[in-house]
Amino acid sequence: MAAKRDYYEILGVAKNAGTDDIKKAYRKLALQYHPDRNPNNKEAEEKFKEATEAYEVLSDQQKRQRYDQFGHQGMRGGSDFHQYQDINDIFSHFGDIFGGGGGGSIFEEMFGGQQRRRGPRSTGEPGSDLRIRLKLTLEEIAEGVEKKLKIKKWKTCATCSGNGAKAGSSRTTCPQCHGTGELRQVSRSMFGQFVNISACAFCGGTGQIIKEKCHTCDGEGREQGESTIKINVPAGVSEGNYMTLQGQGNAGRRGGASGDVIVEFTEEKHESFVRNGDDIIYTALISYPDAVLGADIEVPTLGGKAKIKIDAGTMPGKMLRMKDKGIPHLNAYGRGDQLIQVQIWVPHKVNSREKELLKELAASEHINPTDEEKSKSKSLFDKMKNVFS
Ligand SMILES: [Zn+2]
Ligand SMILES: [Zn+2]
Repeated sequence: MAAKRDYYEILGVAKNAGTDDIKKAYRKLALQYHPDRNPNNKEAEEKFKEATEAYEVLSDQQKRQRYDQFGHQGMRGGSDFHQYQDINDIFSHFGDIFGGGGGGSIFEEMFGGQQRRRGPRSTGEPGSDLRIRLKLTLEEIAEGVEKKLKIKKWKTCATCSGNGAKAGSSRTTCPQCHGTGELRQVSRSMFGQFVNISACAFCGGTGQIIKEKCHTCDGEGREQGESTIKINVPAGVSEGNYMTLQGQGNAGRRGGASGDVIVEFTEEKHESFVRNGDDIIYTALISYPDAVLGADIEVPTLGGKAKIKIDAGTMPGKMLRMKDKGIPHLNAYGRGDQLIQVQIWVPHKVNSREKELLKELAASEHINPTDEEKSKSKSLFDKMKNVFS
């Protein structure tokens, strides 16, 4: 590799040149060696890049200081230094100097309306994303699940492998856009020049014209088809979470990159449980005698049936907790709990014998709340409300 030239020498400015002189010098060189004016001139392109690199360093106070002190050695390996691969990178990087923002840039003024040269696009129009909603049961969410789904989508044409051309047929550069795939229109207004860029309709934005189209896809390079996708749903996802399967969406036109499949998860209502974050809540209905005397009852869990003990004297609304029986945390170790809220079943119908027993019970010593207990009922209600908050 040839030794790097001095940045001041490249721009032709003195070591103590001011910012304005540096900018002026760079503009002059940039216009002189700009690729639009020097088509297919490798040397001009190199000069253009060289000048841009010099300008990037000398226009930045910090970088300039480092360069003055250490020379090119000082610029190596810094993350603030760009290795330009492409002329277009320079434009996007220096958009502020070259104008942009609607007002005519120095390049637009000089070359007004002329096409900016770009290599013909190697690929066609990219494909669109596909969105699908995937319904999951709480059990599936608790365990994680692998789902296979058939989807309808644009697939790369098998006949022409996506290029859209009939076998043996060649492609030529689009005469309308000269291979750039876009058309520019410059209009003047009182604010300066505006440049409108739109996809070339003649070649569909691909920059190329196919002489003879592939018969299967009529030159589109893709065809409607079906595809089976595999989705590994991790345990612990929630309603509204989504997952992206990159490159599995619609194939692009004429070999353009495929879009993504975006899977959005929705949760099916469960017949027994309500989800609250990673906890699940179950309401257990027990009889009045069980609440008074205590009992072992059976409750469903996400992993099958389980036994739980109801203590003697359990009030309705009491919350019991089964540790780690809830939903696994999505991004952390561990899982939620299953909460069991106890409710007391009041029969709608009783026979005469039961009615007699209840009447007898109603008149007995411990069945009715005392005045003191009644006054406590408000605080009990408050306590229950707090369980959910
Ligand atoms: Zn085809
Ligand atoms: Zn075109």
